[in-house]
Amino acid sequence: QENFDIIIVGGGPIGIACGLEAKKQGLTYLIIEKGPIVNSLFNYPINMQFFSSSEKLEIDEIPFISKEAKPKRNEALEYYRRIVTSNQLNIHLFEKVHEVKKEADEFLVQTDKSAYKGKHIIVATGFYDLPNKINVPGEDLPKVSHYYKDPHFYASQKLAIVGASNSAIDAALECWRKGAEVTLIIRGPEVGQRVKYWVRPDIINRIKEGSIKAYYNSNIQEIKETEIIVSTPEGELELQNDFVLALTGYMPNFEFLEQMGIELSDDGKKLPNYNPDTMETNIEGLFLAGVICGGMETHKWFIENSRIHAPIIINSIVEKMQLAQKS
Ligand code: FAD
Repeated sequence: QENFDIIIVGGGPIGIACGLEAKKQGLTYLIIEKGPIVNSLFNYPINMQFFSSSEKLEIDEIPFISKEAKPKRNEALEYYRRIVTSNQLNIHLFEKVHEVKKEADEFLVQTDKSAYKGKHIIVATGFYDLPNKINVPGEDLPKVSHYYKDPHFYASQKLAIVGASNSAIDAALECWRKGAEVTLIIRGPEVGQRVKYWVRPDIINRIKEGSIKAYYNSNIQEIKETEIIVSTPEGELELQNDFVLALTGYMPNFEFLEQMGIELSDDGKKLPNYNPDTMETNIEGLFLAGVICGGMETHKWFIENSRIHAPIIINSIVEKMQLAQKS
């Protein structure tokens, strides 16, 4: 069995930043990623533009040059891919971690392909794998998706979009511009306040002029093959419908964290127990990095404010190893 100083679970921007830092400090490490490099970003909408400017997405101060101030998805793929390949980072792709178990003072990592031993573990698995379900009859129909990719698919179709934050609003505008008949179903009284400041006026004006229909304080009750049932303050409506995009956010895989023994807060936020000075969890030698740290508060951490986790964790691992050598 291969043995590493550090095993990093997740090859997103922050997992990669941890690998790079470990390499710089001369530690042996392996990044295990269940999809391609930066899998979450790869699965983002094809035309997606970051809300962060490119220098805020940089890791290890490696320059990120983009055409506009705020880069597009394909530029970010290029950036993170080049970091992995140019630095020849030790990464296994398309390999999923099933279990992390502590045995004495080592960790046993079981994947769908192999098993490894690590002295330390960094979990950087993000939150993009599990969508927040709307939990209505018909949600499992093939016309319903929780991920939006390409507006072309919805041209000339009746598309209902559930949600009012960035993902939902970007999808509504793009699909309407490519000829879809778009209806937004919004649980609250308005378009989300966190919608990018340059996008918000656009959607509000499209709704005002009637190009995009919006139902506020409304919920989908049921999804059928050719209709949806929507409850609105004016009563129940039956709308003709071809496709539903339920873009109501995502959440981390809490079961995975709990299986490893990480404690979660019971105040509904499910905040994992870790020391913010070292990022070490209640399990000694097991660290958390990136957006996974926020529990249900998935807006709390993003690349810009969590890239710092990489040097914090690697420095504290180096210190631990030096202390262990002395004693
Ligand atoms: P992720 O990028 O999600 O990486 C986690 C990785 O772990 C994934 O590649 C996943 O495949 C892998 N993984 C999960 N489970 C396993 C397993 N069991 N075994 C192996 N691998 C596993 N942030 C910004 O800073 N600026 C922005 O402009 C911005 N825009 C965003 C737009 C959208 C539409 C979304 C959804 C998010 C956006 N974010 C933005 C947030 C940003 O995506 C995250 O900050 C970033 O991806 C976090 O990086 P991460 O490495 O923590 O997690």
